[in-house]
Amino acid sequence: MNSEKLFNEAKALIPGGVNSPVRAFNAVGGQPIYIESGAGAYVTDADDQTYLDFCSSWGPLILGHAHPDILTEVSKTMQKGLTFGACNSNEVTMAKQVCKMVPSIEMVRMVNSGTEATMSAIRLARGATNRQKILKFDGCYHGHADYLLVASGSGLLTGGISSSAGVSKEAAADVLVVNYNDLDAVKKVFAEKGSEIAAVIVEPVAGNMGLVVPAEGFLELLREETTKAGSILIFDEVINGFRLAPTTYGETIGITPDLTCLGKIVGGGMPLAAFGGKKELMEQLAPLGSVYQAGTLSGNPVALAAGIKTLELLETLNPYPEMEAKAKRIADMVNGLDLPVICAQLGGMFTIFFTDSKELPTQLNEVKLCNEAQFGKYHQEMLKRGFYLSPSQYELGFISAVHSDQDIANFMDALKEVLPLVLS
Ligand code: PLP
Repeated sequence: MNSEKLFNEAKALIPGGVNSPVRAFNAVGGQPIYIESGAGAYVTDADDQTYLDFCSSWGPLILGHAHPDILTEVSKTMQKGLTFGACNSNEVTMAKQVCKMVPSIEMVRMVNSGTEATMSAIRLARGATNRQKILKFDGCYHGHADYLLVASGSGLLTGGISSSAGVSKEAAADVLVVNYNDLDAVKKVFAEKGSEIAAVIVEPVAGNMGLVVPAEGFLELLREETTKAGSILIFDEVINGFRLAPTTYGETIGITPDLTCLGKIVGGGMPLAAFGGKKELMEQLAPLGSVYQAGTLSGNPVALAAGIKTLELLETLNPYPEMEAKAKRIADMVNGLDLPVICAQLGGMFTIFFTDSKELPTQLNEVKLCNEAQFGKYHQEMLKRGFYLSPSQYELGFISAVHSDQDIANFMDALKEVLPLVLS
């Protein structure tokens, strides 16, 4: 068992054997597999087992693994040098492409990860408003900056508490945490603290507590309250951006945030992310303004080559209706079973929740009531049958443009066998 051997070696050298915690499979049990290659909708592990992949590297690979056009662009670009730490033409091409596809982004800056994008957007919001407080929502994940690893504190209007060791009380105290989709709580916080709030950061469609869609009026209310209070509205579209349409979710629903964070798909599988928005705000970044933000590898030409090609292909291929139809087929089938499971789906994203409830979860408290042990068993049984799913209940399944009808049919057949088994 090569994966097992590699994991044992890794555990001696890398904390927990992994470079990002969820990969350790702690949430689902069993051993992580070592993926050595991917092609289209499939990945192959170190033991030569092939799996149909619904994790999609946590979202970036909307066009599948090793897409030939993307690889061609990457290899052509890398032949000319890997990094210059200086201006390069791909930066201009990418900025034009992003601003064209997302009109609310008038100016954009490239960074290397979603965490950097949200961190930089928040610094910009704090700099622009000269305020400290941030409002975020329980169950939304925005990367691992100190002040974003915060859970609700003892009361709505007190600051949050750090959800990781190593985060100072002071960093957490500036963060107000409210339940996702709780319109009354948002109104209350703004009524009492609006003038202190620099920014509201939200995943317009939440993807880090499984899939949870915004309630009617929720995002509209955030736009309204932030405008009234002079706070910056940040849509964290690290997952949502280019996932549901060849633009952002904000554009699709006609709500214009002040800043948008992009990641995952925008980099086409390379370490690349971005944040952007209103020109007058973005111009407050150094070297024009006083908000400092920088990166040795930011705007890396090779990473940009992958991202630019991905966005161009999404624009021309428009795979969205097909992906949505496939995910809907899965959700309809699961929701038609007479079993204590419910499947959330939007576009090509889906999550199966193990619960008696006939209603989809609307916030983290409800997701926490779902049966994680059953999710773990489901994950293990699906893996045994050759289906690679994100190893946690709090994540998403992604349909990519290269999942075929037959792939979806095979997945549904496996679900029909595994779900009753898990729940027996
Ligand atoms: N924002 C959201 C919505 C995410 O889902 C993630 C990561 O999954 C991040 C930010 C952080 O991105 P990264 O892991 O690239 O730092």
